[in-house]
Amino acid sequence: MRRLAIYVSLLLLLLPGCGAPVDPDEAQESIQVLAMDTAMLITTYGERSPAAAYACEDTIRDLEAKLSRTDPDSEVSRLNAAGGEAMEVSEDLGILLELAKYYRRSTGDAFNIAIAPVVSAWGFAGGEEYRVPSQEELDGLLELAQDGPIYQGPQSHGGAARYSLGPGQAIDLGGLAKGYAADKILGVLQEYEVPRANISLGGNVLAYGGRPDGAPWRVGIQDPARVGEPNAFAGVLELTDSFAVTSGGYQRYFEENGKTYHHIIDPATGYPADSGLTSVTVVAGLGEGDGSGFPGAMCDAYSTALFVMGEERALDFWRDETMWGGQGCPFDLVLITEDGRVAVTEGLADRFTLDESGGYAYEVVS
Ligand code: FAD
Ligand code: MG
Repeated sequence: MRRLAIYVSLLLLLLPGCGAPVDPDEAQESIQVLAMDTAMLITTYGERSPAAAYACEDTIRDLEAKLSRTDPDSEVSRLNAAGGEAMEVSEDLGILLELAKYYRRSTGDAFNIAIAPVVSAWGFAGGEEYRVPSQEELDGLLELAQDGPIYQGPQSHGGAARYSLGPGQAIDLGGLAKGYAADKILGVLQEYEVPRANISLGGNVLAYGGRPDGAPWRVGIQDPARVGEPNAFAGVLELTDSFAVTSGGYQRYFEENGKTYHHIIDPATGYPADSGLTSVTVVAGLGEGDGSGFPGAMCDAYSTALFVMGEERALDFWRDETMWGGQGCPFDLVLITEDGRVAVTEGLADRFTLDESGGYAYEVVS
């Protein structure tokens, strides 16, 4: 009701009742959305900016209701609890399961949504206590992560796709869902003919168009060594019409006996990835991305996977011509290493500015 009131009052303000046409860049709406356990900021421009911003929020809330692991009624929770039975899934979940299958294959299992039981054992799925599981427990849970969801086809011709999981198996879309949400939000912005927007979904940014003054959007990359300090960036990206997704161990972690354990799990060990990287940012344009048509999801999946792989494997992956069909990699990277370097792939060299106060050495890689 409050939302409706705000919406109506903003609409009244924007109605061109006084005769003068509305300057699309003067009409702006900014809303904060608390969803998926993160603070999201949606800023839209244009005459329909309030309606567009709230339609973005609806998209996020709809996906959260479907994909949350902490909501027992979500589709993901019901699939996880189905005990091997095939279950009909929504179009969104069906797309995400197929995308996840592809990213698992393309990253040699570094990205694996079936790692969910291991994520839960560490307490990173939300709702459980943080703890260090025993090796024996991890070994058992890693067995469950060997297989993913199985497509069982529709019940009848034209029906919804059905998927099943083996008993005890579970999926976690925490490494993919916000990127997919950004893809869907792009569709909303286009539908509402928004000329420019800045969408920040907790580490996932969609820079749509540029700023009203014609300059690109400035996207700060958190310095993993200075979390908690305001505006402590390792560097700033200047982006127009791009997705930028960052994965870092600093985004969710706990400490025990002087050791830090974070939420990005290496499926080869069951432990938080210890790859020498402290943050990975994947940047792509708004086009087809890797051909899937979901460049936001692509950036999210690869930010998680390349963090697991480490610098050398990540750069080999980025350079791998067989991977990208001779077309070149559809994304660029900012890698921050434990030993104090920021490595930026060449496509971003003229769009990245190092923040000297971080003390990092800077290199451009090709
Ligand atoms: P990324 O860096 O992109 O990926 C890391 C996340 O992916 C991990 O947190 C884990 O979820 C998963 N993951 C870890 N290792 C791998 C791997 N090797 N391959 C694939 N995936 C991996 N948190 C709460 O505490 N309470 C909530 O109610 C809650 N609700 C949520 C609802 C939704 C729909 C989503 C998408 C997330 C929710 N979360 C919640 C947050 C979630 O648990 C993660 O913390 C968050 O998604 C991590 O975001 P990120 O961008 O930092 O992850
Ligand atoms: Mg991710």
